[in-house]
Amino acid sequence: MNVSHTKEGRGRRKLAAALLGFFSTCISVNVGAATLAEMSPEDRALLVNEMNASANTVGSKGLFYDDDPLPISISVSLDIEKNHVVVDMDERIGPRTEYAATEDLLDLIRFSILNQIDRIDGLRGVSFLFGGKPSTYWFPEPEPEPGPDPKQDDPHDGERIVEPTQLGRAPVVAISPGHGLYYNYRFKDWRPHRETTNGILEDDITPVMAGFLASALQSDRVAVHNFRPEQNVLVHSPSGQPWWRLGVRYLLEKELPDHPEIWHAFASSQISDRERNEDLRSRPLYANFLGADAFLHVHTNAHISAEARGARAIIHERGPDRRLAVNVLCSMRELIHSKDEFSSYPVPLQPLALVGKGENDHAKMPSVIVEVGFHTNPQDALLLRNKEFQGLAMRGVAKGYRLFREGKPCEDLAVKPVREAFGRVGHDVYFPVGLTGNPAFPVSVTSRVRNCSGHYCPSQWVRLFNQTELEKHRVSFLCIRSNLGKPVELSIDVRDDDGVAAKPATYKVVCGQ
Ligand SMILES: [Zn+2]
Repeated sequence: MNVSHTKEGRGRRKLAAALLGFFSTCISVNVGAATLAEMSPEDRALLVNEMNASANTVGSKGLFYDDDPLPISISVSLDIEKNHVVVDMDERIGPRTEYAATEDLLDLIRFSILNQIDRIDGLRGVSFLFGGKPSTYWFPEPEPEPGPDPKQDDPHDGERIVEPTQLGRAPVVAISPGHGLYYNYRFKDWRPHRETTNGILEDDITPVMAGFLASALQSDRVAVHNFRPEQNVLVHSPSGQPWWRLGVRYLLEKELPDHPEIWHAFASSQISDRERNEDLRSRPLYANFLGADAFLHVHTNAHISAEARGARAIIHERGPDRRLAVNVLCSMRELIHSKDEFSSYPVPLQPLALVGKGENDHAKMPSVIVEVGFHTNPQDALLLRNKEFQGLAMRGVAKGYRLFREGKPCEDLAVKPVREAFGRVGHDVYFPVGLTGNPAFPVSVTSRVRNCSGHYCPSQWVRLFNQTELEKHRVSFLCIRSNLGKPVELSIDVRDDDGVAAKPATYKVVCGQ
């Protein structure tokens, strides 16, 4: 059967429907943010029409693969029920779904339809199909040798709840710093996946950030497998470069010579960047081999427009992955914003689900690609090189994992208000200090009298090392004669070990005789 012919027919029908929609809705140009189900059929048709035009502008350029420079035709449709965008492309890309070049192509297509995607409220994700079939059709799951602690398949359709504490061991997190040098058979050299932009080479900066993430996780007593540890400064002889700069597949080739299925997935391939593809593929397979409880990927983002900025999280749509990503984003936002200088840095609340990101698709554990910022945006690029920013962003990711593991929601740190208290002159009044949120201990608690201008302005400062100390602690205030007549206001400020300042509270004391 000539499948591509059938597909073209389908594409034409869609285009015709879209055009019909377009002409019938030219008057209502203003399409506000609404879910796909809330949109009128005309608005949906308009959206599809615009996306088809933008995506095909990308596809028609061709030259995506060394061995296939032909243009690619793309057909965009909507899954209204799932609030999903579905991008289907030529079947001939199917056998190439696992190529790094395909990931780049999918990114280009996604960027080209961002304006339309932004008009879909609560979009759950974008799925990519190849000749109408998902990547798993073209690349069925390999069956690697079981690792030291293989996970049981969960009966609840992808809801593999990880409860490491019950396993009687420290939770294991695999960290995959994005990209790294690979050997290109056409140019006969070792080269990074990305180009230096605004002073940032993604391949080299991700191990630096991953180092912060590894130490933050280790202080939470997590066993960490960092795939590209920055400390690995020994020289890899074939490239003459320090090991930390290389893609993961080379280290695995050395460490796991008996497991080529992990690092040599494209053994029969002749394309020039086959080792780059193997590198990408090796990461989830290695995380599976390790039996990791969670998988965190550290990347920096790129966009054709220099405007795009801020953090992103990308997942394969599965319940635990989404919960982990939501906690990661929320905690990144909390920590990054704790410093005034970074307080306007954009961090969204929801991740984007993308089918077609091999790093997530093949991972058997909750897996999140953290795009820390856009190296294509000059402001983001400055921050991405800032050690303090790197540290806060990565501690945020680690905190997100802690909350996910403990099953706690991410909520704002705030001092709980208390009722007004009454005291007698010459006696102390005591207040407990309750907090909402998830502070990192130790926390410092400061109380001072507000609007105090006299000689005696009492203030107290204390450092509390755990929840029990916090619960036992009382802020005290001694009523004196000059407090008679008007209520005294105490401001309570709390700052946690990550530098997150709690929303302050005011306690009131009425002093009497
Ligand atoms: Zn990347």
